[in-house]
Amino acid sequence: MIDPLKDILSRPLRDLRISVTDRCNFRCTYCMPKELFGRDYHFLPKSEILSFEEITRLSQIFITLGVEKLRLTGGEPLLRKNLPELISMLHGLEGLRDLTLTTNGSLLASQAAALRNAGLQRLTVSLDSLDETRFAAMNDVDFPLSRVLAGINAAVSAGFSPIKINVVVKRGVNEPDVAAIARRFSGKEYIVRYIEFMDVGNSNGWRLDDVVPADEILQLLHSNSPIETLPPNYPGEVARRFRHPDGGEIGIISSVSQPFCGDCSRARLSADGHLYTCLFSGKGHDLQTPMRAGASDSELTEIISRIWRARTDRYSEIRSDQTNRAPRPKAEMSLLGG
Ligand code: SAM
Ligand code: SF4
Ligand code: SF4
Repeated sequence: MIDPLKDILSRPLRDLRISVTDRCNFRCTYCMPKELFGRDYHFLPKSEILSFEEITRLSQIFITLGVEKLRLTGGEPLLRKNLPELISMLHGLEGLRDLTLTTNGSLLASQAAALRNAGLQRLTVSLDSLDETRFAAMNDVDFPLSRVLAGINAAVSAGFSPIKINVVVKRGVNEPDVAAIARRFSGKEYIVRYIEFMDVGNSNGWRLDDVVPADEILQLLHSNSPIETLPPNYPGEVARRFRHPDGGEIGIISSVSQPFCGDCSRARLSADGHLYTCLFSGKGHDLQTPMRAGASDSELTEIISRIWRARTDRYSEIRSDQTNRAPRPKAEMSLLGG
């Protein structure tokens, strides 16, 4: 195992989330509200988006600095043309232990097998409701639920197991779905993960009152069927874990009510090649410019090391002060990829 680079708070660099596009075919109200991400929104021009070769080169450098896990995300990653090609390039990187992807599932039915064949090891599908009307209201483009469910079925057939199902819970919107989703995905081939609604970016109208805290999510689950508490897989695991009587696993990610910055080993690379050391960063560090100006691998390694060594981020732990007193500009979730 590579001795990883550590930040000021002794947190290693272990995970890299790579956004392959800032575009999305959904307008989830908590992420890309359509009033703000409309026709005149300036998405990144193609020339600014990292090529597969550039992503692969940076990934290899991150791996030599201690990264073991890569997660492809977006925007909607399956909108990126020829994505399986990138997956096979990353799959071959020496030292990589885990290659995974988060998708809204809308294009999964036709792509699941190709992703699997290219070497994708794991898959997370976001799904916030099993009710047609609520699902359409949450994606806000009237996207039919049946197509996401068909995508999940195709992923099971392609051999992904277990598949993670990410559920963002928002007060007054989808609480009734909490227990319903646990029931629907209760088998061993799934891990359902409930995520507290977060104040990422500046456009989703976040209010603390709209957050359903982890303890309340747990009560909603318990009142439906008894679930058994599981120990963490490893120290500092972000999700509290439970087992459904039918064998499926349940996780609750309490990023707002019980933050876990002390163990945060995640870096984020935006589609235009900026490195963000926190989900709530206002600005990224530009790696694209030096890379395109001809920086060598060792120069890029030095730039990334310097950034990570200076990292002090712990936004979620100091959230109350920040958000109550002086809200500051933050990058949007669709740019950073969650
Ligand atoms: N489009 C893909 C998807 O939705 O799965 C990948 C990108 S999306 C930004 C990654 C994850 O972030 C999704 O699971 C989504 O539900 C979650 N997410 C987006 N906005 C959020 C928010 N405000 N609070 C909590 N989770 C959020
Ligand atoms: Fe798109 Fe994912 Fe954001 Fe929804 S959460 S708008 S699917 S990027
Ligand atoms: Fe990591 Fe920033 Fe989230 Fe804390 S707030 S867990 S430092 S991404």
